[in-house]
Amino acid sequence: MDAMDTRNSAPPPDESTHFLNIIQAQIARAARLVELPEHVASILSQPKNEIIVNFPVQMDDGSYRLFKGYRIQHNNIVGPYKGGLRFHSDTRLDECKALAMIMTIKCALIDIPFGGSKGGVKCDPRALSEGELMRVTRRFTHALGSNIGPEYDIPAPDVGTNAKIMVWIMDTFMNTAGTTGRNAQTRVVTGKTLECGGSQGREKATAQGLVHCLTEWARDKGTSLEGKTALVQGYGNVGSHTAMILSRMGVSIVGVGDHTGYLLNPEGFNTHRLADHVKKTGSIQGYTTNHSATRDEFFSQKADIFIPAALQNQIGEREAKLMQVQLVAEGANSPTMPEGEAVLLSRGIDIIPDILANAGGVTVSYYEWVQNGRNESWELEEVETRLEHAMKRAYRRVTNYADERSCSMRDAAYGLALLRIKQIYEQRKIFP
Ligand code: NAD
Repeated sequence: MDAMDTRNSAPPPDESTHFLNIIQAQIARAARLVELPEHVASILSQPKNEIIVNFPVQMDDGSYRLFKGYRIQHNNIVGPYKGGLRFHSDTRLDECKALAMIMTIKCALIDIPFGGSKGGVKCDPRALSEGELMRVTRRFTHALGSNIGPEYDIPAPDVGTNAKIMVWIMDTFMNTAGTTGRNAQTRVVTGKTLECGGSQGREKATAQGLVHCLTEWARDKGTSLEGKTALVQGYGNVGSHTAMILSRMGVSIVGVGDHTGYLLNPEGFNTHRLADHVKKTGSIQGYTTNHSATRDEFFSQKADIFIPAALQNQIGEREAKLMQVQLVAEGANSPTMPEGEAVLLSRGIDIIPDILANAGGVTVSYYEWVQNGRNESWELEEVETRLEHAMKRAYRRVTNYADERSCSMRDAAYGLALLRIKQIYEQRKIFP
């Protein structure tokens, strides 16, 4: 093999460790709230398995490049490990650990029989050709081997991955895992295309679930979403679908942003046209020359609702002080830092926490997994009815528990999830 470019092997800097510490501290806080036994809190403070793979891929120009991939399996007491795969140049071990922990808590909260995992490849998918992206995906899947599986650990799309990538994973897994029960192996991943075993409603499920939370929030405030204004940070799967659903409900999307910059328009954006532009070009850049804004201007913009739908740790103390909204609904995982949350809450700004607000995606992933297992294909209406019921039920449970315990919605959501996990550990005990 030629000399390889090993630029992806740099040691991780501290930001992802800080992210992990935030999630560990959040779990510890909720553990105290629900009096979780010390040994269970200790089990949950670290992942069960940390898989790191380095694998070579031949690039289009004939050179070879070494890629680093992760799969972190946090906990499977509730059911098989479940969590997304992130293709991003900043993907790091501790980030995957934090995100896997969030998945365990999210699945327990929304009451589906899955544990938590997360993974990804350190790469910039936008800088890869279609062929390179496919080879990275296939080699990564091969390197993971039997560490994933339909009854063991089930990946799904996350930042930088999509239905097409899930289908390549499925195909690689089916071609390498032996012939027995090959059809049953389609459910090794969720979030697939409809033609290859995906579920109706999965693509927009995270956004739809978030909108159900927003509807309940408005109902509690004695109002409706119609006529409200919203800011959306991130215009990928979660951000664009949320913006499009909300605009159909009469919400004006007055600001959007992504990795290329920010746009503000008091008249509201045409969310569908913007989504088409992003699909074609990969970002919001170049959509319009009239409305560009700085990041600070975006965060300072007055609106009713702020929807972070990009990456973690976007709302720190500084951003929280700038914000002029009534509600932050967390489409992204962990977008609000603890210092930011303290400022928002002290200013009377509500927060619908990630593990509730974005749980629609994994919920419909569960429906996809069930459908694949039964060789069924549910109508969109059935998926949507089930999702609405699951989201609104979880929302009620969280608000009721927050009232009962006089705590934040985040502490309530984490607390309820831990109570479920606690019951299972109480009955199963620890092997041997
Ligand atoms: P995506 O890759 O489709 O979109 C990510 C968006 O974030 C893009 O618009 C990108 O430009 C933007 N972005 C990236 N870096 C940024 C930066 N530094 N500043 C501003 N914007 C930036 O990913 P997605 O699937 O929509 O995921 C977004 C968030 O939602 C992530 O936190 C993810 O973990 C979470 N989430 C996704 C799902 C799902 O079903 N896809 C489910 C639950 C949670």
